[in-house]
Amino acid sequence: MKIAVDLHSHSGYAGGVGQISLEDVSRTMKLKGIDVFGTGDCLFPPRTEELKKSLKEVTTGLFSLPNDNKKFLLQTEVIFSTRLKGYKNKTIAHHLIFFPDFASIDKLSLLMEKWQMKNTIGRPFIVSNNQKELEYQLYSIQAIDPLIEILPAHVMTPDGIMGSKNNLKSIIEFYGNFTGNIHCIETGLSADPEMLAMIPDFAELTMISNSDCHSAALNRIGREFTFINVTKIDYLSIIEALRKNNVIATVEFNPAEGRYYLTGHRNNRPHHTEPIIYSDEVPKDLICPVCNKKMLLGVKQRCNQLKDNTIKPKERKFIHLIPLIEVIANSLGIKTLNSQKVRAIFFEIMQIYDSEIQLWFSEDVKELLDKRVLPKTINSILAVQKRNFFFEPPGYDGIYGNLIIGGNE
Ligand SMILES: [Zn+2]
Ligand SMILES: [Zn+2]
Repeated sequence: MKIAVDLHSHSGYAGGVGQISLEDVSRTMKLKGIDVFGTGDCLFPPRTEELKKSLKEVTTGLFSLPNDNKKFLLQTEVIFSTRLKGYKNKTIAHHLIFFPDFASIDKLSLLMEKWQMKNTIGRPFIVSNNQKELEYQLYSIQAIDPLIEILPAHVMTPDGIMGSKNNLKSIIEFYGNFTGNIHCIETGLSADPEMLAMIPDFAELTMISNSDCHSAALNRIGREFTFINVTKIDYLSIIEALRKNNVIATVEFNPAEGRYYLTGHRNNRPHHTEPIIYSDEVPKDLICPVCNKKMLLGVKQRCNQLKDNTIKPKERKFIHLIPLIEVIANSLGIKTLNSQKVRAIFFEIMQIYDSEIQLWFSEDVKELLDKRVLPKTINSILAVQKRNFFFEPPGYDGIYGNLIIGGNE
C-alpha cells in the first residue's frame, strides 16, 4: 500500500513561531493528502506532555486525535555537537529521531538528564567531547529500543552532517562504528536524490524527504514528503520501509529553490550594491570579489566536491513540485498566500479533488477545473504537472529561488 509520509516538523516550542495546534495540523494533512506526519519536538518535556494528553495510540506506534483518522509518528530533531580530530571547529549535525512509544521518549529524557544535557528547547543539543563519546551516546539511544531510528537531517545544508560548514570527507568520521546503524538520510530542501546519488556515503542509503515545517500552513506541511510502500500503516512497517528502502518516490522542492543551493553573496550585504552568484566554478578560497568576505559553499558545488563519477547510481524516483497555494498565487501575480482570493480558489479546487496530492497526480485537471477556476490558474497547474517551471535566480546565501512557472515548453 502506498502512503504519503512527512516525518520532520517542529512545534511552537522550537522558537520563532506561535503555538501550532494539532487540530490545525490534521486539517492541513487532509487537504494535502499526507497520511502520517512527524509530531516534531516530542522530546521536549512540555511537548511530550501535550502529545500524551492529546493523542491516542490507534495502531501500534502511531497516534491520532480523538475521532480523527490522520496519524502522527513521535519525532524530534536533535543537534549532535562534537569535536572531531583534525577539525578546528565543532562539528554540528542536525538529526531526526523517531520513537515507537512514549516510554522510549521518557527513557531518552532520563538519559539526557544523566548526561547533563539541557532539554529546554524544542530542538535540543546533545553535546560530546569527541567521536568516541558521540558514538557511545548514539549506541545508548539506540539501546533504549531497537525500533528507534536515528538519521541525519537535511544532509547538505550548512547544519547538515555533510554540509560545507562541517566540511567532513565522510560520515564515518562522525559516526565511527555506528555508521552501519544509519539506514536513511533526509535530502533537505536544497538537494534531491539525483544530486546525492553519486556521493559514496549516500549511494546505498534510503533517501526520504520531509517538510521540516514550523507551521500548519498550506505551503508548509507536505512541501516535501515521501511515498513509501507498507503492508500495514503502523510504526514498525514505516521503519521497515525506511530500513529496506521501500521508498516509491520522494516529492521534493526543486533544489534551485533552496536557500543554500548556489554559492554567492546577496545584494544587501555590506559593500554590495548587487548580488554575486556562482552557478558552477567558485573561487578556490571562496572569497567574495566584492566584499572580500568568505562565502558559504552552495549545496550544488558541495555535492560536486563529494561525488565520485565512477558510481553507478541506484534508480530513485523523485518529483519536483510546488505547493498548490503558491502556484495559485503565482498565477494571479499575488504575493500573499493568505489572500482571500487565493484561498478561495484553493478551496474551490478541494471541492473537486480529495487532496492536493490527488490533484497533482491526476490527468483530468483541465476537464474538471474548466469553468470553475480561471484559465491562467489551470495553465499554471498544468505547467507544474509537466515540471515546466524553474527558479531565476536560484536560491543562494539564505534567499529562496525566485519561481517562474511556464515558458519552457
Ligand atoms: Zn534542522
Ligand atoms: Zn560579498
